[in-house]
Amino acid sequence: MAFPVLTKSVIDKAFFPDMDVLNLRGSAQNQLHERAANVALEQFGRRVFIRAVVEVSNFCRENCSYCGMRRDNRSLERGRAEYEKIAELLIHHRPSSITDVNIQTGEDPVAVREIVIPLIKAIRRETPLGVSVCLGTLNPTLYSELQEAGASIYIIKFEIGDPTHYGEMSAPGNFNERIENIRHLAAHGWKVSSGFIDGLPGQTESRLLANFKLANELPLDGCSVSPFIPGDETPLKNEPTAKIDLTLNCMAALRLMRPEWVIPAVSALNLAEPGMGYRRGLRTGANLATINMTPEDIRGDYLLYKRDRFIMTEERILSAIAAEGLIASQQSLAEFYRTQNSAATQSAIAAA
Ligand code: SAM
Repeated sequence: MAFPVLTKSVIDKAFFPDMDVLNLRGSAQNQLHERAANVALEQFGRRVFIRAVVEVSNFCRENCSYCGMRRDNRSLERGRAEYEKIAELLIHHRPSSITDVNIQTGEDPVAVREIVIPLIKAIRRETPLGVSVCLGTLNPTLYSELQEAGASIYIIKFEIGDPTHYGEMSAPGNFNERIENIRHLAAHGWKVSSGFIDGLPGQTESRLLANFKLANELPLDGCSVSPFIPGDETPLKNEPTAKIDLTLNCMAALRLMRPEWVIPAVSALNLAEPGMGYRRGLRTGANLATINMTPEDIRGDYLLYKRDRFIMTEERILSAIAAEGLIASQQSLAEFYRTQNSAATQSAIAAA
């Protein structure tokens, strides 16, 4: 078989993956990843953005079949973090390498009002950090309040690109609502990063490819792929873990499809392949890493997959970045996006 990803004509015109590409293995797969890594290198240089994530509430009004925080999981102790504790942690005790913070919750509007908004204001007032949020689908008023507080990046995965599969997995709200929210955020000045889960039960080839089609159509600035990890306390607990090779090929395909996107290496890569998963993610052209700063006493019940989580510490992230010949970005992701905006405005003025 000829490997379409490796021909220059395929790289030069718009790239869209097919199953031959996503199924590559062995040396052809390595070449795919190298090609994607080179595209990231041309676009971003060797730098990788480093953010922290803090998870501040595990209340969730959604009931996604794949997620341990689903509202039907009665074994989870639900709670919200104390604002003062998280503010103190981020303002005075954050790792020196982080330039941005992502505040994440289950879908919990109460936590947004009581903790997230005050936290964003404090971070913006007291630190140079850029702020991302990952809070699920909210209403337009809350989105504006978050923005006014100083957040500029919204992470909202479309989760599953095929509407029927989306419904089968009880993914958040409904498919159309999720997509409308993504479009609303992008139309209202947010930098939007979305994403999908690969290897979910019931995923067919056409359903997998639907993720790329949807990602390509949406007004996004970044996109992630996470391998499906069967959560202990979910209806899918006996299903198989996604194959890491498929996840990595999806990441490389996203990079080739949209060279300008910020693409994270997600921590679940290390659950899908303990030891090397994360580093292999960086090798596919990922350019964003996340250090988990959720306090230990809350972390255990912020349950996405398994109670035994693999925590990405600063040390693990920095050594993976160094081992792959990459470097930590000094510029924050929020600042990077701001400079992109002003460059685009300048060229529009020049062209007028
Ligand atoms: N509640 C917010 C939302 O809906 O966007 C915040 C994100 S949610 C707490 C965390 C993310 O983890 C989801 O967007 C989902 O993609 C991912 N996730 C949850 N369970 C997963 C699983 N079993 N395997 C892979 N990813 C999973």
